Amino acid sequence: MSAKWRKFLSYYRPYMKGFIADMCFALVAAATSLVIPLIIRYITGTVLTEGFANANQTILYLFLLMLALLGVEFGCNYFIAYVGHMVGARMEYDLRNELFTHYQKLSFRFYDDQKVGSLMSRVTNDLFEITELYHHGPEDLMISAIKLLGSLVILCMINVPLALLALVPVPFMIVFASVLNRKMKRTFKKNRERIAEINTRMEDSLSGIRVVKSFTGEDMEIHKFTEGNDLFLLSKKDNYRYMAIYHAVLWCITGLITVTVAAVGSWMIGRNSLTLQDLIAFLLYVNNFTEPIRKLVNFTEQFQNGMSGFERFYEMICIEPDIEDAPDAKELSSVKGTIDFDNVTFSYGGNPTREANVFSHLNLHIHAGEYVALVGHSGVGKTTICSLIPRFYEPNEGHITIDGTDITSVTQKSLRRQIGIVQQDVYLFAGTVLENIRYGRPEASFEEVVEAAKRANAHEFIMELPNGYDTDIGQRGIKLSGGQKQRLSIARVFLKNPPILIFDEATSSLDNESEKVIQDSLEDLAKDRTTLVIAHRLSTIQNAERILVLSENGIEEEGTHEELLQKEGVYARLYHSVE
Ligand code: ADP
Ligand code: MG
Repeated sequence: MSAKWRKFLSYYRPYMKGFIADMCFALVAAATSLVIPLIIRYITGTVLTEGFANANQTILYLFLLMLALLGVEFGCNYFIAYVGHMVGARMEYDLRNELFTHYQKLSFRFYDDQKVGSLMSRVTNDLFEITELYHHGPEDLMISAIKLLGSLVILCMINVPLALLALVPVPFMIVFASVLNRKMKRTFKKNRERIAEINTRMEDSLSGIRVVKSFTGEDMEIHKFTEGNDLFLLSKKDNYRYMAIYHAVLWCITGLITVTVAAVGSWMIGRNSLTLQDLIAFLLYVNNFTEPIRKLVNFTEQFQNGMSGFERFYEMICIEPDIEDAPDAKELSSVKGTIDFDNVTFSYGGNPTREANVFSHLNLHIHAGEYVALVGHSGVGKTTICSLIPRFYEPNEGHITIDGTDITSVTQKSLRRQIGIVQQDVYLFAGTVLENIRYGRPEASFEEVVEAAKRANAHEFIMELPNGYDTDIGQRGIKLSGGQKQRLSIARVFLKNPPILIFDEATSSLDNESEKVIQDSLEDLAKDRTTLVIAHRLSTIQNAERILVLSENGIEEEGTHEELLQKEGVYARLYHSVE
């Protein structure tokens, strides 16, 4: 059995009890439906023709028996529909949780190449059909098998030649079904890919709706969306064409069985080789015989549909996170804040021979509590250096240590707890001010949150918001100004209180006034911590203890602002060109 199948079946394990009960009820339902025509045959055959003394009473009793059987079938059907579906739904729930948890483990490198809409589509659309497949699949298979075999046996007991006649088309049906199944599987998969594209397009367009409107790009967006939607329709068209052929042909063949049996049976009655009551029973059973075939037809469709979703789920689950904790990873605690880069080479592709490295053989030493600025022109790799310290990406070569401990030897969680990052583009979550600041430390008390907000110079503007700390800030904090968002993100880091800080162009997008306020907050935050500042405006880093000038060749110059100006090198040129 392939690993995929083992994985598929493994989701049954926690719900075995419910599932087995579901199967038992399905078994009982199938069996009762086989018994009822037998009773009818008994009435029309034995009771009526053999002249029972009190035929009416016997018929009444048998009627009551049949009612009781229907009652049993009712109970079984209710149970199957309710409990059976719930078993399927719980399994789908597990799959969803697993996929979302898996997403949380994957690293920056994975997300660099993925589209959010498509990832969402895998969680929502792709797993949609799986509930049905998980419980209806085995249930339908069993009910159909019992009905098919049971009715076949009974048909043979009634009349062998007629039973064989009913059996003739079955092999053709099987061949036909398996050929079309393969085609349908492909179209189902294509449908899923196309709907994922639609979701991606929609997510992108709606997230950027403000840009869309400012560029009056609505028509273009609608056009692009329609394109994707058309493609989806096209693949649905193929899909439905196959389904239509499939259903029509199979229904036709089952109808053909009934019609042929009726005609040939009547002819046999004329030749006295069959009785009327046997023909009635036979026709009742032919229905019992063709119904499971129809069910199997539906099942194959459901199966292809559900499996195509599961396959896309499985593909994703198989992607291993490229950055994982070492098996013997320790907790990194009580950090002083010395950071060392030792001969570090990095490229985003992760393949140093093919891609250009962002930097090669970089050496860097920052001692505990130092306030260091990193400057260099845009695209030289400043942000990249900062992403390596919390291990968002793995260097191709070399080591990074904190207080002498290699960062690959500690858990990612404990490492990242020691580092606070304030970036130019702030990401805030939909929710309230309070929730967003608390993201830095979820167990913090309200007083601690207020304290952090005060130190980030955010308290005043928060109090002016309509609901203070409980104000909803909109998706990505859209209801706040740039400076306000930045101050919330600083408050978040204050609350986290990490020994190492990274400010990556934290004030670049702000006007002069907000910049001053935020500069104050940042400097307050930086006290007694190792701080790495990247600044676009060199005026903001003049009081750094040390300035590192990064170029394509690595660290080109270093020193204080005055020292570097005197050198009249790269920094001096940069300073004079910008200021
Ligand atoms: P900066 O010094 O302006 O912060 P970055 O560190 O952001 O520069 O980028 C360094 C180089 O790496 C740039 O050439 C950029 O195009 C590239 N780069 C940045 N992020 C990624 C990424 N996620 N995937 C691939 N390339 C990237
Ligand atoms: Mg940058």
